[in-house]
Amino acid sequence: MTVKTIPMTPQQIAALKQKLQHAKERKTPPYAHFQYELSDCVITAYESGKVVFQGEGAAFYADSMENRPAFDETKNDASFPGGFPQAGSDEVGTGDYFGPVVVCACLLQPQDAAFVQSLGVQDSKALQDAHIRNIAPLLQERLCHSLLILDNARYNQVHEQNNMVAIKCKLHNQAYVHLQRKANGLPPNRIIDQFVQEKSYYRYLRDQPSVIRDIHFETKAENKYPAVACASVIARYAFLKAFDQLCERYAFSFPKGAGKQVDEAIRTFLQSHSMEDLRQVAKLHFANTKKACLSVDQK
Ligand code: MG
Repeated sequence: MTVKTIPMTPQQIAALKQKLQHAKERKTPPYAHFQYELSDCVITAYESGKVVFQGEGAAFYADSMENRPAFDETKNDASFPGGFPQAGSDEVGTGDYFGPVVVCACLLQPQDAAFVQSLGVQDSKALQDAHIRNIAPLLQERLCHSLLILDNARYNQVHEQNNMVAIKCKLHNQAYVHLQRKANGLPPNRIIDQFVQEKSYYRYLRDQPSVIRDIHFETKAENKYPAVACASVIARYAFLKAFDQLCERYAFSFPKGAGKQVDEAIRTFLQSHSMEDLRQVAKLHFANTKKACLSVDQK
């Protein structure tokens, strides 16, 4: 396990505590002010002024502290992953048999924080679709973002050469490339809601002409980083709209997810539509296709 220790002033420690208010607080060890747990790092501030970072993310967090002469809460701290401005990205639709894969990367400036908070932005999975439909257009209007929608026909084509993880890596990277262009640069704080190990992420991007680096990977990032939460909401909204369009175009009520109700829907859909139609609305490599088609053949 990586352990890094750096000295901090009482003011820096107080500001650090403020920064960590959304992290999980642990029982305070002896002679310590506090101890917080992040997904990849435990941070303990001791009364002696030493702050200890332990875990996979230790170097990342400790370095971001050390690089600054003073940790000043009143200044927006670009070197800390929770600081502003921040860019975050997330994807939607990868667990759904029907409908596209959508990735959004979003840039949040310090002055956007209160606005985002006032809309009740959080992980799109925790929000009702109706709420997402209300707030996403407001976010899209105000925030610089890049939105990529991989429709099913194209997805099935791309999937012949790439697995789902590779597709996600390339879409996230492309979203950041576009965001960089739109925003004339990216802040040092870039966070991906982690779906793959960092090393694998860059390995999947080996052949890409342009690769955005120095990204912080963290699971459940949409709960901690508002830029990721905003990206998640905008992506979910685009997914919902695309899904509505599919239902309308095929006059069919497609279910979400990839469960039994999806198998049933495939069978019903194929009674009045062709395999080529299915290619336009579904991620064909999911096991659901085989399951449903086998039982159609048996009939
Ligand atoms: Mg995610």
